[in-house]
Amino acid sequence: MSAGKESKAWFKRAEKVLPSGVNSPVRAFRAVGGDPLVIANAHGATITDVDGNDYLDFVGSWGPLILGHANPTVIEAIEKTARLGTSYGAPCRPEIDLAEKVVSLYPGIEQVRFVSSGTEAVMSAIRLARGATGRKLIVKFEGCYHGHVDHMLVAAGSGLVTQGLPSSAGVPEEFTGLTRVLPLDDESALDELFSAEGDQIAAVIIEPVPANNGLLLQRPDYLRHLRALCDRHGALLILDEVISGFRLGPGGAAERYGIKPDLATFGKVIGGGMPVGAFAGSKELMQELAPQGGVYQAGTLSGNPVAMAAGLATLNTLEREDGWTRLEALGTHLEHQLNAVIADTKTEAAVVRIGSIFWLALDTKDPPRTAAAIAPGAADRYGRLFTALLDAGISLAPSAYEVGFISLVHSIPELDRLCAALQTEFARR
Ligand SMILES: *Cc1c(COP(=O)(O)O)cnc(C)c1O
Repeated sequence: MSAGKESKAWFKRAEKVLPSGVNSPVRAFRAVGGDPLVIANAHGATITDVDGNDYLDFVGSWGPLILGHANPTVIEAIEKTARLGTSYGAPCRPEIDLAEKVVSLYPGIEQVRFVSSGTEAVMSAIRLARGATGRKLIVKFEGCYHGHVDHMLVAAGSGLVTQGLPSSAGVPEEFTGLTRVLPLDDESALDELFSAEGDQIAAVIIEPVPANNGLLLQRPDYLRHLRALCDRHGALLILDEVISGFRLGPGGAAERYGIKPDLATFGKVIGGGMPVGAFAGSKELMQELAPQGGVYQAGTLSGNPVAMAAGLATLNTLEREDGWTRLEALGTHLEHQLNAVIADTKTEAAVVRIGSIFWLALDTKDPPRTAAAIAPGAADRYGRLFTALLDAGISLAPSAYEVGFISLVHSIPELDRLCAALQTEFARR
């Protein structure tokens, strides 16, 4: 069931008026080949393309849809709120409700400011960190993604040079010159950088669960070391929980690993499928934001009532339905079954899984902990796997480096269907 007649026709139209036919690059299927499906609607665990083909979906709009597509409670909240007006540009009840919820669920934060995307959350948190510390340098890690803000589009320099080089055209070197890039999973690289420049580091930003370049689960000891170094040198620790926040549990990765960030960034699940991002921290830090403080930050549609209502309905449902516990159980089941498939077919692959996030590391038996440790041939092999699964009616992310997401509406038989399809593919080789 690769792209059918209608999908192809629509995508031809798209290519005329949208660059590469898309509004976000991975959607174009360049990494896996073929034309993308054009989606008509989605309900529960199923997405349906414009040709009327159904797919069992493990993309979940790249993470937000933890309750599945078109969850009735979320849709009802959206409809009800939209009837009261779609935007006021003034304080409103839904943003206060969601802020209270976020502050009550996530450890160690007192205030939150809402924005409209994860990128915006990261951009603003970094500005706040620089403003609050009066320092300039930002440290990030190879294999972590923090959205497409200029100074985060950075690749590691060669050799001992940690100074970041732009990883996108259109980003001047001067813009990335204040970003330092380190490998993950490497305490000594951290120690070295902090002893050289520790007093100039405003903040270290990390995905505590790096899930944008495969799933590079970190050692808790490493994360604790990072926390301690930041404390010793007066640098802020920003946990980018745009994927992990409200997905791994009410307190995200911070709660999982017992690490308290100075600032946390959120997106995806927090908006329940609507465009929402947020950043949060202590009242003392957040007071540095305008209008009280000197760090400017604003947004016409920030705290949008309809989006806030969708986020709140999502978090309330997760709480009410014991969602995180159930997701952990579903994740455990999938992990066991996938491991059985790998053992049975003797294929070269490893299952990496935390909570409801999963990833297949191909061509290796050891889950990689750094971007450099990912097998170079894995992308080609993944492309074939992706296409075969799509033909079997299963939608995985169209890139070897993207993770899969389990939602509350995935049933055990649906997880088993994914495993059976993979079994067929692995056995074919
Ligand atoms: C998705 C993501 C972002 C960017 O969020 P957008 O809403 O796509 O701008 C930032 N950080 C992490 C960890 C992400 O997964």
